Amino acid sequence: MASAAAAGAAAAAASSLLTCHYKAQTQAILPHNSAPNSTSTAFTNSCIRSGKFKKVKLQSVPVKRTHILNQLCSSSDPCVGSDSTTIESPPLRIGIIGFGNFGQFISKAFKRQGHIVLATSRSDYSDYCQHHGIEFYSNIDALCEEQPDVIVVCSSILSTETVVRGIPMHKLRSDTIFADVLSVKQFPRNLFLEVLPPGFGLVCTHPMFGPESGKHGWAGLPFVHDKVRIAKDTVQEQRCAQFLSIFEQEGCTMVEMSCEEHDRHAAGSQFITHTIGRILSHLNLESTPINTKGYETLLQLTENTVSDSFDLYYGLFMYNVNATEQIENLDRAFETVKQKLFGRLHDILRKQIVERVPLQGTSSSASSSSSTKAPRDQKQTPYFLPSSQKMKDLSSFAMPPLPRENKEDVNLAASHPNETSLVPR
Ligand code: NAP
Repeated sequence: MASAAAAGAAAAAASSLLTCHYKAQTQAILPHNSAPNSTSTAFTNSCIRSGKFKKVKLQSVPVKRTHILNQLCSSSDPCVGSDSTTIESPPLRIGIIGFGNFGQFISKAFKRQGHIVLATSRSDYSDYCQHHGIEFYSNIDALCEEQPDVIVVCSSILSTETVVRGIPMHKLRSDTIFADVLSVKQFPRNLFLEVLPPGFGLVCTHPMFGPESGKHGWAGLPFVHDKVRIAKDTVQEQRCAQFLSIFEQEGCTMVEMSCEEHDRHAAGSQFITHTIGRILSHLNLESTPINTKGYETLLQLTENTVSDSFDLYYGLFMYNVNATEQIENLDRAFETVKQKLFGRLHDILRKQIVERVPLQGTSSSASSSSSTKAPRDQKQTPYFLPSSQKMKDLSSFAMPPLPRENKEDVNLAASHPNETSLVPR
């Protein structure tokens, strides 16, 4: 009974596909935002797997909503468009490994553009997948048996090596494309080159946005990619172009860049941003009635940063060879700023203490306008520095030694232990 129904549905799907082929070569089969019909999807999948359909060359027409099966042939043939007419490709079958925060986020775009999404993860996301028209596989072997066209590695940076080494490569087609979305690039590229069979296509990518920054769309957001190993003039090349076009269709700014270059830029930009966000999060900043635009930006940055896992942040540090240098730069820069502030403060303070120059607006300056020296009985501990207790861990706050003739001032400071310490530490 069930198989008769399935056969009927498959026949209907086949007829609908062929009708589409003759009726409108450039017309969309799938409406924008609609999930593919599961029966026709299953049928299409089985045709693709059995090698009945040839995926053909992508032309300038958007891939989105134009999934038309135009030619019958073996999927292992080189992919060559036969003439100048627009020839469209069937939807890709994309397997996502690691279906957490980011895996779910990008799967929405894959679905939106009518591709078939399969997912597997350490945790069970079967309920989520059921609601979003995605096939969930509780183990990686089952997903690989489905032989997706593209495998997208979306696991945490820290777990990726274990995850990739656990993939049963022999179950995949020999021209499978592996893509990753890790926020570091040299590491997955080297891992892929080391672990994956030579026929597999490799494209390392980094969408420079996430569920927060990309929640209102991806238009104008950078998408970095490096086609590390894609066989020329083959179906693999066509599928790779089709995969990348998903991001292009979403409006991303496509940036082709080597993995080394990416890591250098990312350490100086993304890693610094995350680090500042993490530091700010320790200040427990709160909105005030008088927020400046700049402060609003900081609050937003803090929120965006902490919504990512600490594993992600640690991965940015641990797996990017340029990150340590950036942490050191940041440290030096903070030290420089503190020195500038407190260096100037020291100058004023020293003038006041040593040369007896009164501060403007203080009672001593008012009462001694004709003299630069404060009367001895008005001598006070400088009032504008925080207590020594608060400053004890901050090296820039260490005060320089006083000249010996100002012993009196030193004694004064010692008699006020909670005030500014004038003794270097
Ligand atoms: P993440 O914490 O970096 O990674 C979470 C994913 O890793 C989940 O799928 C999780 O599986 C899996 N995972 C963690 N530990 C694992 C382990 N020991 N074994 C197997 N799987 C493990 O958070 P994310 O934001 O989802 O990022 C995923 C990837 O996307 C990362 O490589 C990240 O660099 C990249 N990326 C993220 C963003 C972003 O804005 N979030 C942007 C661009 C790229 P379960 O959920 O099943 O536990």
